[in-house]
Amino acid sequence: MKVLAILYEGGQAAAEEPRLLGTVQNQLGLRSYLEGLGHEFIVSSSKEGPDSDFQKHIVDAEVLITTPFHPGYLTRDLVEKAKNLKLCITAGVGSDHIDLNAAVDHKIQVLEVSGSNVVSVAEHVVMSILLLVRNFVPAHEMIERGDWQVSQIARNAFDLENKVVGTIGAGRIGYRVLQRLVPFDCKELLYFDYTPLPAEAQKAVGARRVEDLREFVSQCDVVTVNCPLHEGTRGLVNAELLKHFKRGAWLVNTARGAICDKDAVAEALASGQLSGYAGDVWNVQPAPKDHVWRTAKNPLGGGNGMVPHYSGTTLDAQARYASGVRSILANYFGDQQQDPANVIVGLGEYVTKAYGQR
Ligand code: NAD
Repeated sequence: MKVLAILYEGGQAAAEEPRLLGTVQNQLGLRSYLEGLGHEFIVSSSKEGPDSDFQKHIVDAEVLITTPFHPGYLTRDLVEKAKNLKLCITAGVGSDHIDLNAAVDHKIQVLEVSGSNVVSVAEHVVMSILLLVRNFVPAHEMIERGDWQVSQIARNAFDLENKVVGTIGAGRIGYRVLQRLVPFDCKELLYFDYTPLPAEAQKAVGARRVEDLREFVSQCDVVTVNCPLHEGTRGLVNAELLKHFKRGAWLVNTARGAICDKDAVAEALASGQLSGYAGDVWNVQPAPKDHVWRTAKNPLGGGNGMVPHYSGTTLDAQARYASGVRSILANYFGDQQQDPANVIVGLGEYVTKAYGQR
């Protein structure tokens, strides 16, 4: 059978670091396993346009492996051309780059390696909250420039203690963020999610659920986005919602770029409605060189904590999602039941409740 993997280019780094498993060079460590079983394994980073390897090979692949870090966008159009396709595996977490409704219609299963990088992302979220609240990036840049002007940094630096922090989405990542924030003695921890936390879990972190999104954001000093991208979350944080944020709030989004309106966020930052925006996810990946989030700043010239999409692809995470992909493949080849936690779309139906209320 033909297995197609669209992975990111690892270059010199991947040649030197074999633990960069999620790269074209290191192929999730799957080549000898798959070829040993007699399968054809195509690996490429070429994913855009009709001449890409992705579009060339999707027509007869049975299994597609993609990664959110370099998303091969499997649109409905491509699903319709992919006559042999039976299984899509996301090496990581987050399968919005697959048209999930089309997968349901065409009985293509979609699985991810749930939980594989949730600690990696939760740590990144806490780091991003701290670097915004404490005004870290401009302080470091000042040092590199050879300058030293404490007041210039301190005028916009705060403590996280006694602030209200809220997460949109309190699933695996959102909950881990709340857990990690407990020792910071925040004034309150809030969450907005149509799925309430189990009472014990909510009590363990002392969080309060707010059911109305505007009310939720209006109470937060820091908002962190930790829900999947789907029809109900695309553009959720837009100009209208940003008006309801506390003036000068900080926003961290490591979920998906398209959950936040690109221009509305940049404008809110420029006007001071937001003091900072940080995250690693972009509405298009790789982000174009002139993407406004690369250079957007608050009125004091700081407040930008953007990085390329890497929070969930630490070397620790790569080991976990590479081994998770192999288990999913082994179950598929051996006709074994998949771990239900990994199944986003089963045969003709959504299995998860995380990609929208249906
Ligand atoms: P999860 O399925 O455990 O939790 C998602 C939560 O979001 C669920 O509780 C769900 O009810 C909630 N949700 C869905 N729609 C919502 C809405 N409209 N409003 C509020 N809450 C909503 O998923 P997870 O493991 O926590 O991952 C969440 C997302 O984080 C992924 O789907 C992915 O997009 C992103 N992610 C990013 C990286 C990265 O490297 N930056 C890595 C992993 C995951």
